[in-house]
Amino acid sequence: MYLAKSRETLADYLKPLLNKSIRIGFVPTMGALHKGHLTLVEHAKRNSDFVVVSIFVNRRQFNHLEDFKSYPRSLRQDLDLLQHFQPDVVFLPEEEDLFSQVQFPDFPLYPLDTVLEGAFRPGHFRGVAEVLWVFFTLIRPHRVFMGQKDLQQCAVVERLLQRHFPEIQLLMIPTVRETSGLAMSSRNLLLSPEDKDKAAAISRLVLKCAEQVGHEPWPALQQMLQDEIQRAGFNSDYVALVSYPDFLVLSKHDPLNPQAICIAYHAGKVRLIDNAWAPGPLPPSFLA
Ligand code: AMP
Repeated sequence: MYLAKSRETLADYLKPLLNKSIRIGFVPTMGALHKGHLTLVEHAKRNSDFVVVSIFVNRRQFNHLEDFKSYPRSLRQDLDLLQHFQPDVVFLPEEEDLFSQVQFPDFPLYPLDTVLEGAFRPGHFRGVAEVLWVFFTLIRPHRVFMGQKDLQQCAVVERLLQRHFPEIQLLMIPTVRETSGLAMSSRNLLLSPEDKDKAAAISRLVLKCAEQVGHEPWPALQQMLQDEIQRAGFNSDYVALVSYPDFLVLSKHDPLNPQAICIAYHAGKVRLIDNAWAPGPLPPSFLA
């Protein structure tokens, strides 16, 4: 497991792989690794010849400096966890080095940058697209492994790949959950035990409601979810049924296209998101 701490050392390490038919799998993360991230690494190991994992808390994708500062960081523990999975390279760049002299191309993300996460976190997806553009340009992976947990981010990546890196394939891995049903997230570390229990109940309800889409009217299911969030004392940003990968907000079930329930809410100072597929086809990028 080689630790590359700069663009240059990473490029030097990857150079011998160029022009060989070695399939590089890439797993971008912001660290504070948990089983969700490690499952992506497992999939990458299984589906690639060479695996690069990045750990970088990307300031550009945070809307508030406070959120960036309080984001959990646990590099030593992350590296210990990764040792068990043996990726070939862990890329640990510094912000200044990563973005120095980079000129970004155009990233038209509309309408993804205006709905749900796009609306509540202006500039977030642009920050995501920028860092991934640099990573993809440097690493030239064959496949990038990302989690369903951040479904709208996956849609942004599909868009970015289509426009700038058609040779790279996205593989979306199902959300890994705690036994309580709560989607694993680095932010869960910031929750009180009581809020964690309430958040788990909301996640269980999302999964249950997703199964009911098409059997019960969506407005009734949406109301049920909103009520549960309110009963927990949390503030909901949205509860929506959307198409994938366009993220068009739907008012009723469309059995012919991929679609998911997506929610976001604030549990105190912690903002949580979750989603679940509704009955119907799943996108080709999804590794069921
Ligand atoms: P992050 O470190 O939060 O930027 O996440 C890095 C990658 O891990 C992203 O592709 C996330 O979607 C994915 N991820 C985070 N949590 C989970 C989870 N519970 N299950 C599956 N993938 C996840």
